[in-house]
Amino acid sequence: MNETLSNSHSLFLNDDAKEADLPDRRSQPRDMPTAPSRPCQGVRNFVCRNAFVIVTVVSVALGMSSLDSKASGRMGMRTVVYYMLTTIIAVFTGIAVVMLLKPGEGGRESPASSSSSIQSVQAVDAFLDLIRNMFPPNLVEACFKQYKTLYSRRMTQSNVTLPGNESEANISGVLLTSVLQTLEETVPTAGSSSGVNALGLVVFSMCFGLVIGNMKDKGRVLRDFFDCLNEAILRLVAVIIWYTPVGILFLIAGKIVEMKDLAQMGGQLGMYTLSVILGLLLHGLIVLPLIYFAVTRKNPFMFMGGLLQALMTALGTSSSSATLPITFRCLEENNMVDKRVTRFVLPVGATVNMDGTALYEAVAAIFIAQVNQVALNFGQILTISITATAASIGAAGIPQAGLVTMVIVLTSVGLPTEDISLIIAVDWFLDRLRTTANVLGDSLGAGIVEHLSRRELQTHDTEICRSVVVE
Ligand code: ASP
Repeated sequence: MNETLSNSHSLFLNDDAKEADLPDRRSQPRDMPTAPSRPCQGVRNFVCRNAFVIVTVVSVALGMSSLDSKASGRMGMRTVVYYMLTTIIAVFTGIAVVMLLKPGEGGRESPASSSSSIQSVQAVDAFLDLIRNMFPPNLVEACFKQYKTLYSRRMTQSNVTLPGNESEANISGVLLTSVLQTLEETVPTAGSSSGVNALGLVVFSMCFGLVIGNMKDKGRVLRDFFDCLNEAILRLVAVIIWYTPVGILFLIAGKIVEMKDLAQMGGQLGMYTLSVILGLLLHGLIVLPLIYFAVTRKNPFMFMGGLLQALMTALGTSSSSATLPITFRCLEENNMVDKRVTRFVLPVGATVNMDGTALYEAVAAIFIAQVNQVALNFGQILTISITATAASIGAAGIPQAGLVTMVIVLTSVGLPTEDISLIIAVDWFLDRLRTTANVLGDSLGAGIVEHLSRRELQTHDTEICRSVVVE
């Protein structure tokens, strides 16, 4: 049995770990840059880091600029307030559900998590770290180094001794080793050469996007530039996606080899799926209808009845953008929402208002933390809520876009981005559900904004009538 385990360890230990020198590597001074052990690893780090920086800046800045350019006037403000409010509520609903159900718990056993000193990072410290990382003193540096995560600092503080010795290794120890190595590669500590301050970049991109949006015509060049870059990245991603079946096959196969207990992982994935579904149901069937009712005093379920065709299309296509023409028709023909509102609210909503995606990103990030036995503190949960909101704004209205922007959320709290492969298997299904929630959020938003803007719309109608009579 032990031999089998040792053999299986060697399958997923990389060359460095096989040399059983991890404890020594850990005891090196932290500011000693570690050279990539293989050229391909260096290339991979370079490509991933740069791709991450470009995707974050472009998608978030573009999302914010399109939001603000149309947000002038009262109707615009109402739309923005509704979008922000419901997205934030969705994120917190997701966080509450995943913290209650704990789908990822009982997984990998991590010696690090049992160390009491690891728990000792103060909440205040965490909060201050959060603020510090939000406003990086040097933006270029923030893209490439100096992001010291709480998680990596915890490990330094606690002097965790990593299992690297084959004879004393157990599955959980080796799993931890590979997780820590992944973390060290993706989010290294200060002084090493390849960290990214994701939160700092997100905050900068949001402000930058808002300013571009405010510049109206002057900002058009920049907006077009980001739009074009975004389009180019999406096309590049579309090419890469052709090869994903092969990549996913090996990623999932690799994860299965790593798994201590297949049935247990299956159970965790089942609970994760259930958490996302429960969160989406709570948000879509309770929170959003309640907000609609509170504002309009009309029956939200009657309104939702008129949206059935759009919701079914969202479920079938996994794309808010592809569903847009049907959403227009349902709202305008079935629910009689004013065209001036739908033509304004829905296109922006399909790009930036993704309650379902935001909820899913928060649940998935916390699930991955639970699977890795990382106890998140208040500051980190706050970071997840901010970055999940930004990641949903940055996600395009196309299938599985949320999976791409998920990297922003994971990187912001130092979780292994490679663990996205854990949830890929069920994402095709969850994507359909979150897209349905996204379309529902946009549509109820149109109903609410129309109700709140009825006076202005009537005044506008009266003015048009007057000018016709005068003519
Ligand atoms: N597929 C979603 C949408 O189009 C985006 C996502 O992947 O979350 O709304």
